[in-house]
Amino acid sequence: MKTDIQIAQENEMAHISQIAEKAGLAEEYVELYGNYKAKIDYRLLQDRKDRKDGKVILVTAISPTPAGEGKTTTTVGLADAMKRIDKDVIVALREPSLGPVFGIKGGAAGGGYAQVVPMEDINLHFTGDMHAIGAANNLLAAMLDNHIQQGNELGIDPRRITWKRCVDMNDRQLRFITDGLGGRINGTPREDGFDITVASEIMAILCLSRNIEDLKERVSRIVVGYTYDEKPVTAGQLKAQGAMAALLKDALKPNLVQTLEKTPALIHGGPFANIAHGCNSVMATRMAMKMADYVVTEAGFGADLGAEKFLDIKCRMADIRPSAVVVVATVRALKHHGGVSKVDLGTENLSALEKGLPNLLQHVENITKGFGLPAVVAINRFPTDTEAELKLVEDKCRQLGVNVALSEVWGKGGEGGIALAEEVVRLCEEPNDFHFTYELDCSIREKLQAIAQKIYHADDVKFLPAAEKEMKQLEDLGFGNLPICVAKTQYSFSDDQSLLGAPRGFDLTVRNLKVSAGAGFIVALTGNIMTMPGLPKKPAAENIDVDASGKITGLF
Ligand code: ADP
Ligand code: MG
Repeated sequence: MKTDIQIAQENEMAHISQIAEKAGLAEEYVELYGNYKAKIDYRLLQDRKDRKDGKVILVTAISPTPAGEGKTTTTVGLADAMKRIDKDVIVALREPSLGPVFGIKGGAAGGGYAQVVPMEDINLHFTGDMHAIGAANNLLAAMLDNHIQQGNELGIDPRRITWKRCVDMNDRQLRFITDGLGGRINGTPREDGFDITVASEIMAILCLSRNIEDLKERVSRIVVGYTYDEKPVTAGQLKAQGAMAALLKDALKPNLVQTLEKTPALIHGGPFANIAHGCNSVMATRMAMKMADYVVTEAGFGADLGAEKFLDIKCRMADIRPSAVVVVATVRALKHHGGVSKVDLGTENLSALEKGLPNLLQHVENITKGFGLPAVVAINRFPTDTEAELKLVEDKCRQLGVNVALSEVWGKGGEGGIALAEEVVRLCEEPNDFHFTYELDCSIREKLQAIAQKIYHADDVKFLPAAEKEMKQLEDLGFGNLPICVAKTQYSFSDDQSLLGAPRGFDLTVRNLKVSAGAGFIVALTGNIMTMPGLPKKPAAENIDVDASGKITGLF
């Protein structure tokens, strides 16, 4: 079997200016980054503001296994399939982070015959957005510590600094550090730590900004820490927003690439789906809506996290009304929810498969009844799936009136997704009754209760004492009307990753609440949330190489 990188390298790409032309972009909007990548100027949004919006299709998934269930693969393959049935379509995806590329998961440019290319570039430095975000983040950190060094006019308490430096790497060594050592001229000693760049608030801000002005305003609202008398200190008070926005001006422009079948794809922004909202930029999605009749986009993790945040945070902030939702399911993940251990997931097991179905059905019902959107299950076919297993999932869905289509895009490209594409096009014509899980003017407690009860099906929400205190402080500071971004394990509907399927009879425990004032949401932390991952025992990096001609191998 060919690897993803082999398939990608055998493919002959079109010059990116041809893709841009096919997407109807005049040359003046296209900034070439070599032959196969380009950035699109944000003026396009202004110039096309009166044009009718394309329909947005969200691809999400059941509660995943650690390997991922194929959302990116399905997103790319579905778009290629829609193109094959003569629809005007574009893909909008997140940019991969180097952390997972060198860690366990590998690349994030799709798989098999449903990929975006050039996959090596997309997975490695791409157009430098990630580095620009790191630079802006670290400029703010440097200005903050310098402010303290130069006399600390604002009275910032070095023990209460919340802003961290970041680097785009899985590097656990940097999680907790002591810095500023070496005496008076070398700074103020304090405990500190790094986050991975995709967990930085700058990434979330870049992804939610509508334009440069909006970006600058959001950056100036960032809370970097607190003073000795407990007042928040912002990036605006440090006068950092102008220089930070200057560093981000090109990173804010969406990147244009192509799929293996030459469908245009915008890949832009990649916030973590736990501490942040987990979807590509508002700029890219809105631009895509002005470039094609249909936009296929993906949100991270399972639908309880990625889709909930896409709908309640991103769509609300950006006035996007999606038309249909695809819930990706795999036989192996369903068997996992039915109690099968990881090593046995490749063996046929119909009873475990049936036992795992409630996880899928609950995600579907959340989308259809909870959010009022039409949904279809895409069964992402793996080589180990048996005919009997695929038939069982399809039959059960049909019996329960759930739309379902087998997707073979990984093995066959767009050709393998035609049934799914036809179903999606049909659903896009259905009237929908889209609504949010909560209204912004509810209290923080009520918003969390709404998410926990309607989406996770928990009994109630328990706030630990620290969270109670923080809730009151945030409301007193005027942040009570922001939407909520829940940081929770992706493996379960609950905050306990061992509760598989569709658990009942549990409470959601909120440990801490913190504001991302620039991004414009309150993060509710449940469980221990990692904002700087580590590398595994055998990092994927060990297999990556490059030959004398510059050809990369071993990426997957
Ligand atoms: P997600 O976006 O849900 O995290 P991806 O689309 O990135 O998942 O896929 C995760 C991994 O699984 C990739 O390496 C991809 O090549 C592989 N994969 C996806 N779908 C299939 C499939 N149908 N058969 C085999 N491998 C697949
Ligand atoms: Mg993905």
